[in-house]
Amino acid sequence: MQDHLFHSHRAPPPDSGVYARVAVERGIEQGTKDAALTYRAGDDPSSVGQLVEVPLGRGNTPTRGIVIEVGGPELIGNVPPSRIKPIAAVHSRPLTPELIELAEWISRYYICPLGMTLGSMVPAAVKQAVGRRTEVLVSPTRGPGDAIDDVRLSPTAVRAWTAITSLPRDTWPVTARDAADLIGEKTVAPINRLLRAGLLAEGTRPVVRARSEAHDAIFESAAVPTPTPAQIAAIERVAQSLGSFERHLLFGVTGSGKTEVYLRLLEHTLDRGQSAIMLVPEIALTPQTAGRVQARLGADQVAVLHSGLTAAQRNRAWSRAAEGGCRVVVGARSAVFAPLNDVGLIIVDEEHDASYKQDQLPRYHARDVAIARAHRAGCPVLLGSATPSLESWHAARQQRSTLLRLPDRVGHATLPAVRIVDMNAERATRANGPDRGSGLVGPTLERALRAAIDNDHQILLLLNRRGFAGRIVCASSACGYAHACDHCDAGLVLHRDAMSRAGGYTRCHHCRAEQRIPKVCPDCGGTLRWLGPGTQRAERVLEAITADLPEHQRLVVGESLVRVDSDTMRTARDYFETLARFAKGEIRALLGTQMIAKGLDVAGVRLVGVLNADTALSMPDFRAAERTYQLVSQVAGRAGRGQHPGTVIVQTLEPDAPAIRLAAEHDFERFAEAELRLRSAVPLPPAARMARIVCRDQDPAAAEQAAARVARAAQPAASAAHAVVVGPMPCPIERIADHYRFCVEITAPGPAEVQRVLRALRDARAITSDAKTAVDVDPIAMM
Ligand code: ADP
Ligand code: ZN
Repeated sequence: MQDHLFHSHRAPPPDSGVYARVAVERGIEQGTKDAALTYRAGDDPSSVGQLVEVPLGRGNTPTRGIVIEVGGPELIGNVPPSRIKPIAAVHSRPLTPELIELAEWISRYYICPLGMTLGSMVPAAVKQAVGRRTEVLVSPTRGPGDAIDDVRLSPTAVRAWTAITSLPRDTWPVTARDAADLIGEKTVAPINRLLRAGLLAEGTRPVVRARSEAHDAIFESAAVPTPTPAQIAAIERVAQSLGSFERHLLFGVTGSGKTEVYLRLLEHTLDRGQSAIMLVPEIALTPQTAGRVQARLGADQVAVLHSGLTAAQRNRAWSRAAEGGCRVVVGARSAVFAPLNDVGLIIVDEEHDASYKQDQLPRYHARDVAIARAHRAGCPVLLGSATPSLESWHAARQQRSTLLRLPDRVGHATLPAVRIVDMNAERATRANGPDRGSGLVGPTLERALRAAIDNDHQILLLLNRRGFAGRIVCASSACGYAHACDHCDAGLVLHRDAMSRAGGYTRCHHCRAEQRIPKVCPDCGGTLRWLGPGTQRAERVLEAITADLPEHQRLVVGESLVRVDSDTMRTARDYFETLARFAKGEIRALLGTQMIAKGLDVAGVRLVGVLNADTALSMPDFRAAERTYQLVSQVAGRAGRGQHPGTVIVQTLEPDAPAIRLAAEHDFERFAEAELRLRSAVPLPPAARMARIVCRDQDPAAAEQAAARVARAAQPAASAAHAVVVGPMPCPIERIADHYRFCVEITAPGPAEVQRVLRALRDARAITSDAKTAVDVDPIAMM
């Protein structure tokens, strides 16, 4: 302590001989030079994975970092020890040595500085130690039989001591308050007296305090079903592989009981004394999923990480995992970094989901990180989906992954009959009326809606487009005006807002810039047309269609009809609450974007309507068909999950598109095979691997030149690696937020070849991940 007071930079403490390499987190502006710096470890032992504060640069700016290596003088090389600064402070240990290795792989593979990679692995709440307190605990210094005649005690204190010694030994340590409660004392005064007398001693322990999380009991079903033969086969196959790395794909139709397979395997893993991670897309991470896992394994074994947690709750969940306070972590993308020790199984549910890919640095894919982590941990990884990604399907076909099938729904449930409605034909017969004429709900779907309402069934309606209208254009084709963002090459989306005087605004979905709704065409003064109806418009159409029904049957926005999209569901809590109300039958119909297509298991849903199946089909992205198949198939899978069959109506202008036709027929394999053939012919992923480099600049010529430099620099290594370099070419959306964007695509036979080209680019200093260059390895978004 004394020593500490006299510390200064001029007179460093004696060299402990222990050094630590620390990766500090730097912003992207500071460049990407990897900063792993060596510091002297102080009296506090630092270990790999520990969060520390170190002095950085000339000003000794206190900077957070993670210890990535601990060792002796070999870490400082020729630098005189006196020049090495000491670590300023040691905090919690949010990462394990195994995770540091994983970070090194991510940093290399996805081209992201190690410090930044590590920084993004640890939640901000953990770094800021939100809710962390030091708790003072007491425990007795003597046993029940020990004499205490050397201390002078009042009769009350003697009584307290007797009570304390009669408590079981494993009671201790507890807080003074708890100790008083345990011995039936109203105040802590007797405890304090025993402390002063030396019969109790104090110690400290760090704890994280947070409000306890609410659980919606409605979702937690206690009944444990008997697995079906198909489930048993899948469980046994994966269970056999516990203890070594193996990759499994569980391909099970919606409602086939995949979750039950996960739960049984989690139990097996815990029985082996190991821990496990289960990843779920953020949107599907409802109390429903979390509740099922907690109900089965015991809430104290499970930490749930989702965006609805407070900072303190998130820190507590992370700390529990790091300190062995729980052995299962369920969470979205970043839960793949949960600091559990001895991971015995990693599950990735809905593995096809695009939200597993992070769209900022490090641009990792949680499914692939899960595979890499399982490989390092020597444990199996289980990917599950009703509509596997073509990447995972391809891997299974090539026997890089075992394929486990659950071909049928459990119980008496059957896959719903899907009816494709050709909107080209329906439009001719559509009913007219103020909001009816939008072409959003054709007569077939309208009849089905009315029938469902009549029979008191619940309804899900999907329209994967937000806002009121996706495009505002001049009615005169000679004029051709289209209302667009001033900063992006993109149309503005009309959002209605009853609260605002202007009745709403138009917003760019890329840079979020807003404009006023134009009244007339600014070019020719003519009338404007609102095209591409979105969920806000659909709300009105549905109200209009049911307006003639008796009051209790009408769809009324905010009451019997609730819109679920990122505009109405601001927080995870809004979303969870809406789903809970829907599950209880308090809401008749949900209308929403892809948010409602995932993971919802509500038996009352008998009608699912897809208002427009074509929203994704026309995207300039080679995965457009795959996404359309997934969306239609997943939302259709929400119907008829109870005892009764469900109906699905899919409205489309392209009834013959294979993605739509085969989704209606529930024929994933035919779709996947046909799509794989198309991709192999090009070749595109998964028949090949890709990296995409986007150069952006306010000056279009500079952006194009930068991309051209990348393309040129890639050429020699690409030829050697049988890789193909395409570009520079403008991105599909050429300008976003006043920056012009040009890209280069590197396509190679396999990941090793892509890495070879990227390494050559890095060595030639032709790429760094900075504010002007985005390197995306295995890209998912191609815009
Ligand atoms: P998936 O994840 O494949 O869509 P779930 O795991 O949600 O399917 O299962 C659908 C429903 O079937 C759930 O309500 C689940 O409790 C129930 N279920 C699962 N397995 C069985 C089984 N073997 N017997 C009876 N019910 C089951
Ligand atoms: Zn914009």
